[in-house]
Amino acid sequence: MAASGKLASFRLPPLPTVGELIKLYNLRAERQLSQNFLLDLRLTDKIVRHAGSLRDAHVCEVGPGPGGLTRSILNAGVADLLVVEKDTRFIPGLKLLSEAAPGRLRVVHGDILTHRTDRGFPANISKPWEEDPPNLHIIGNLPFNVSTPLIIKWLENIANRTGPFSYGRTRLTLTFQKEFAERLTASTRSKQRSRLSVMAQYLCTVHNCFTIPGRAFVPSPQVDVGVVHFTPLVQPQIQQPFKLVEKLVRNVFQFRRKHCHKGIEMLFPTACRAELTEEMMQKADVDPTLRPTELTIPQIRALADAYAHLCTREPGLFSYEFREENRLKHLTGQRKTPIDAFTDTPTGAPPSP
Ligand code: SAM
Repeated sequence: MAASGKLASFRLPPLPTVGELIKLYNLRAERQLSQNFLLDLRLTDKIVRHAGSLRDAHVCEVGPGPGGLTRSILNAGVADLLVVEKDTRFIPGLKLLSEAAPGRLRVVHGDILTHRTDRGFPANISKPWEEDPPNLHIIGNLPFNVSTPLIIKWLENIANRTGPFSYGRTRLTLTFQKEFAERLTASTRSKQRSRLSVMAQYLCTVHNCFTIPGRAFVPSPQVDVGVVHFTPLVQPQIQQPFKLVEKLVRNVFQFRRKHCHKGIEMLFPTACRAELTEEMMQKADVDPTLRPTELTIPQIRALADAYAHLCTREPGLFSYEFREENRLKHLTGQRKTPIDAFTDTPTGAPPSP
């Protein structure tokens, strides 16, 4: 009895439904802003359940829009919910919701790509990285056009323990296009294995929770949507700077169907390409005839360690970009670029961990 009384106290007082709010404020979805609303509160409750227990939690919701998911988060008993919404049209409806949940909902009109999430919550909720995650969650039904830059930014934040991860191993529960969600969680040798799979999985435990059919959204997108949960790992599986891992993985996966040495070769200037590729593959003890999709994360770690070793030995190597070399060749008609051409580049040192 006491428990249900307590639960009841989280619940919002009667409010116009999300559908009524949309009509009230004339909130037509803007396709250019990838706005697809979830009005079925059973589905928004299901997303929230996959975030884990939110009792007394601090939460940042990305793109609350008309506030369906926001209501489910509030009903889960959070202590403090910060919502960041870019479109001003939604702010009055969100303010109404904030009045119905006194002291628990903070509405920010802003852009999540630039918002300082490292400042939004009290410092005392921080947990040391090695301990359990803090009681802070990020939840969002993201616009598709923002999900890619945002997840890449957050993965870099995880590697550097900055942004929302300055509080510890903050968990994320986010929606993506189904195909993107599958790439995030794809295992070695699967069809969807990609650069994104490696970047996400070397830093986090990534779990594909469930799929929401496109028809559940208003208006319906052409594609289905996957809900993905991330928990940053205590110990990243690759212990090299994010930018170095990102460069290696980008090069390895650029020729998806070819042997992995093909992409690795492109890390090196033409003049020393064959020699340094062989040295790197041998040092990493990785079979050069494996396809990028067949590489395990421990093998990519060995490659990253070998590449970092070469970058330390050959100053300037890290800043080498083969596309840039091709562009220069094109401009100058030069056939070969000696490694010396890269040795005095001030940005050439690998980033420090
Ligand atoms: N959460 C709502 C729901 O589930 O019905 C709306 C989801 S809709 C797919 C995405 C929301 O994100 C929209 O309200 C849109 O205005 C907002 N948005 C788009 N870009 C944004 C950005 N850069 N920062 C914050 N919000 C953004």
